[in-house]
Amino acid sequence: MSEFLARALKKQEGRQGPRCGVSIAIERMDAVYREQVMAAINDNAIRSTVICEVLREDGIDIRPETLQRHRSGRCACPRT
Ligand SMILES: [Zn+2]
Repeated sequence: MSEFLARALKKQEGRQGPRCGVSIAIERMDAVYREQVMAAINDNAIRSTVICEVLREDGIDIRPETLQRHRSGRCACPRT
């Protein structure tokens, strides 16, 4: 990596702010499970509280408020 690119990346990181617990948890999941969880998160018919309950059964602890914030785009995660 060039020094210039390293400097640009560092600046960009500073702008994005920390990612929330949802995206950190998602990052740790294996690919198949992650895809299933993301599909549920993107499906507005399913309540955040219910998703969190199912995740908790699988040993993943995300608070419904955190998930709601992530779903509505009010967290600091980078948007694409
Ligand atoms: Zn988020």
